[in-house]
Parts: sequence; C-alpha cells; structure tokens
Amino acid sequence: MTHVRACRAAKETQVYSLKDLGWCDFFEAQWNEMQGPDLFPARVAEESRGSYVLYSESGEAWAELRGRLRHNAPTAAALPAVGDWVLAQNRGSRATIHHLFARRSKFSRKSAGRKTEEQIVAANVDTVLLVSSLNCDFNPRRIERYLALAWESGARPFLILNKSDLCENSAGPAAGAESAAMGVPILITSALRGDGLAELRQLIRKSGTSALLGSSGVGKSSLVNALLGRDLQPTREVRDNDDRGRHTTTSRQLIVLDGGGLLVDTPGMRELQLWDSAEGLEHTFADIRELAQLCRFRDCSHTGEPGCAVIASLDEARLASYHKLAREQGFLASKQDAALRSERNKAVKRLMKEQRRFYHDHDR
Ligand code: GDP
Ligand code: ZN
Repeated sequence: MTHVRACRAAKETQVYSLKDLGWCDFFEAQWNEMQGPDLFPARVAEESRGSYVLYSESGEAWAELRGRLRHNAPTAAALPAVGDWVLAQNRGSRATIHHLFARRSKFSRKSAGRKTEEQIVAANVDTVLLVSSLNCDFNPRRIERYLALAWESGARPFLILNKSDLCENSAGPAAGAESAAMGVPILITSALRGDGLAELRQLIRKSGTSALLGSSGVGKSSLVNALLGRDLQPTREVRDNDDRGRHTTTSRQLIVLDGGGLLVDTPGMRELQLWDSAEGLEHTFADIRELAQLCRFRDCSHTGEPGCAVIASLDEARLASYHKLAREQGFLASKQDAALRSERNKAVKRLMKEQRRFYHDHDR
C-alpha cells in the first residue's frame, strides 16, 4: 500500500494557539466547569460521515465520537459540526470526542429528504460575509433573504459586493444594496482584479470566525483562493497508519488564515434553506415593524387592510419579498409541527402495543 502524504502535510504539524482558533471567554467559562483528566479543547475543522478533523494546541488530529455522545444525542443538531468546540482525548494516533461545547451561534438548515430535521451547517461563526455579485443579476431581494438567515444565526453580517470589474457604474446596485441591507456595512471587491481584498483580509482578521454566504457563481471560491493565495485542495489523501481518509472529499472546512482570522467554507452554507428565520426576518425588515405601529389595526397583515401604513409607505417589491419570506417561514413552521405530531403519535402507538403485549402475556 502506498502512503501518499497529504498535500497539506506541512499544515498537519502546525500548532495553533487556542486564540488563533477562535477561543474566547464564552468557551473558557464552559471549560472551567468540565475539565477532566487528559481532556483538551479542540475545534472541529472537518466533518465527514462521523469522522472529524480537529485543530488544537497540539496540532491536527483525526477523531471519532465517544459512543455515549453519539447514542445520547437527541437530534443530529446535538452532534459536533464544523466550527464547534469539543473536549477530546488522545487515543494513540486518533482522538475521541467526549463533549460538545455550547454554541455561540449556528447556521442550520432543513435536512435533505422528507424528514424535517435541523442540520447544523456551521457553528460558532462570528461574522457572515454575504457575497453578492455586481453584475446584471444583482438582486436586493436575494440580499434580504440572506440577511434574514445571517441575523438568525447569531453572527454579524457584512455585505461583499464582488465583481466590481464587471460593473462600470456600481453606484446603482450599491444604493439598492444599501437600502436592502439596513445599515449592514458594505465592501466592494473584485476577486479577479484584487480590488478591496486588502480590506477584506483586514476585516476577516478582526472578525473571529467568518463564513461566506451567497448564491452560486458570485465568486466565493475565488475570494477564498485570493485570500489564501492558493487553491484549496478538495481531496485529502491517505495518511501514514491511516487509510480511512483516502480520497475523502473535504466538504466542510475551517481554514486558519496566515495573517490571523478563520474562515468557514462549507458547501452547506451555499445552499439557502430557511430553517427558522422568524427572528431573522424581524431584524431584516425592522422598517416594517416600525411602520406597522402606525397601521390602523394592531394585527394588520399589510395585505390590503384599510389604513395600512406599511402598504402606504413601503416599496412594493420589498413588501412582496417580506410576504414571500414570511410565507415560506410559516410553511416550514407548520411542517415542523407536523413532524412533532407524527413523532408523538408514533410514541403513543408504541406504548399501546407494549400494553397490549403486557395484558396478553398476563392473561395466559
Ligand atoms: P462561487 O460559486 O460563489 O464559489 O463562485 P466562483 O468563485 O466559482 O466564481 C464563479 C465565476 O465567477 C468564475 O468563473 C470566476 O472566475 C468568476 N469570478 C469570480 N470573482 C470574479 C470577479 O471579481 N470578477 C469577475 N469578472 N469574475 C469573477
Ligand atoms: Zn399594515
């Protein structure tokens, strides 16, 4: 068997300080409560079908979940995801994850398939870099949609308007973005020409853990590559004494930037799925909440009631966007209820079956 050292082999010996990895008082306080022999804090850099790559003060390590953690997790959301802090223990060449720290923020989505279950896409993201492109399909409505998602996560959003080289006059789109962004800072970049990249690097350095969010094709990978000064390798090859990692596609990643700052780059972040953005919606459409106080009816739905201040003064497209997002949100909420109800029904049926068996056995 050939052992091809991973092309990132040099990085594997790299030692990080906890601070480099985004450690802060929030986690320190939790750690003080639960220290144990041989347990060390580490951050999840990759997750792939139950296997994890951890970054810690002693470098990079492959890890698996301790059985108890895996079995006791009530939902998939209670298992570690990229960006999570965990307590781990060394076990020869591998590590075992014993405990998951409470999250400061999380990005989640509805899991694929029929089951409506929360799936964590990235955890402990401090800053969301919402990337949009300044070319012709620039869309403020889409920005609103992403902003709702960003606020909901608990992270602070920034708006990156990329491909400035394609836009002769960025004033129009930038103004549209400004009104949709409601005070969120905007940075104009070109991954191709290099405009704004120094500012972006500086922003990331100061922002703890950042994540790129935005539609496909807006230039997220190009920005990441420009920031790294190299292309991210999509595959991880075999390591010595360990062939489990062979050709594993590294679909989720936490990148420690050379000059400081961390970047979460996961495909999951790229797919927009509203999970529970009720709060995020409120934040993104704070102007509607303000105006609604002037509506004649307190429970005005802003869909045509007389004396509606929102309809009277808000841009029609923005209101339509709000209604669309709110409808989606309502739909998902009702699906979640249905999923809960069906779980409950299943539990009741199980109980009834057990009882029947109990009586049956006792009658004999
Ligand atoms: P992603 O799907 O958001 O990761 O987008 P990519 O980084 O794959 O970029 C999509 C396409 O846009 C590629 O063809 C890039 O070369 C191009 N692109 C990315 N950034 C820029 C830019 O600043 N200017 C121009 N003109 N093209 C860009
Ligand atoms: Zn109204």
